[in-house]
Amino acid sequence: MAHSAPGKHYRKGISLVKLFEMFPDNETAEQWFVESRWPDGIRCAYCDSENVNTKASHKTMPYRCNCCKKRFSVKTNSLMHASNISYQKWVIAVYLVTTSLKGVSSMKLHRDLDITQKSAWYMLQRIRAFYIETHEPFEGENEVDESYFGGKEANKHAKDKLNAGRGVVGKTAVVGVKNRDTNKVQAEVVDRTDKETLQGFVVENTTPDSVVYTDEARAYSGLPREHEAVGHSVGEFVREQAHTNGLESFWAMLKRGYAGTYHHISPKHLHRYVDEFSGRHNVRPLDTIDQMAAIVHRAAGKRLPYQELIA
Ligand SMILES: [Zn+2]
Repeated sequence: MAHSAPGKHYRKGISLVKLFEMFPDNETAEQWFVESRWPDGIRCAYCDSENVNTKASHKTMPYRCNCCKKRFSVKTNSLMHASNISYQKWVIAVYLVTTSLKGVSSMKLHRDLDITQKSAWYMLQRIRAFYIETHEPFEGENEVDESYFGGKEANKHAKDKLNAGRGVVGKTAVVGVKNRDTNKVQAEVVDRTDKETLQGFVVENTTPDSVVYTDEARAYSGLPREHEAVGHSVGEFVREQAHTNGLESFWAMLKRGYAGTYHHISPKHLHRYVDEFSGRHNVRPLDTIDQMAAIVHRAAGKRLPYQELIA
C-alpha cells in the first residue's frame, strides 16, 4: 500500500486514528482552519485588510481589524459562519465528507458528532457547496454521457405511473463530461435531454478544438466539435477510442451513494450531490489534508445562509 503502481500518483491518506492525533482538541482544529484559510497570514474577514490585531483577548472573536474596527474569528464569513458547532467537530465533518466515497448522510453525522440532524444536514450542505471548483472548459479528448436517477416506474402506484413506455420517464437526467487527459469530470442535472440542452452542455464545458465521444443518441448529431459516436444499443464492439466507458465508474459511484447513503434525494437537491461527487472525484489525486484545506480555502469570504438552502 505504501507505494502505488508506476505512473499513478501516490496520495497520502489520513486514518481516523491519525486524525485524532492531529486534532486532539478545539485549539489544534481552530489553528488548522486559520492556516488553511489564511496561508499568508490573518486578514480581516470583512474588509480583507492585513492590519489585524491578533492579540485581542476575546473568547469567540479573537481578532480585531485595525481598519474597519470589526471583531471576527476564522468562522466569520466562511464555511462555519455563525456556527455554534466546535472547530473539532467541523474538522471531523470535513474529513468524513472528503474520505467517504459514497457520501455521508446527515443521520450518520448527527450520530457521529452528537449534534442534531438538522445541524448535521446544514453542515453537510455547506461543505458540499464549497466542494466544487470552477474550472476552464476541457481540452483534448472528452467523453460525454447521460445517466438517470429516481423512482423506478415499476415500484410506483398505478395512479403515479407516467406510462410513457420508456425507462427514463419520471427520472432526473444528469449529463456528464470526462476529460481523458486529466480524468476530471463535470456533471450537471438537466431538465430534458434534447439536442439543445445536451449540446449546450458540451459547448459550455469543452473548448472548440476538443474531441468529443458520445453514444449514438441523435441529440448529439451536428455537435460543433470533432465528434465520434458509438452505439452500445446495437451491441457494437467498443472501438479503440470511441467509447464513453470512462464515465461509467463515476455514474456507478453516484448511484451507489444515491441508493445506499441518501436513500432518496429529491430532484430539487440532486444537483448538490452531483456537485459533491464530481468535486470529490476531481480532487482524488490530492493528499487528504490538501483536499480538506481546499474546501476551507474555497469558502473563505463566503456564506451559505440556511434560508437560502431551504428556499
Ligand atoms: Zn476590516
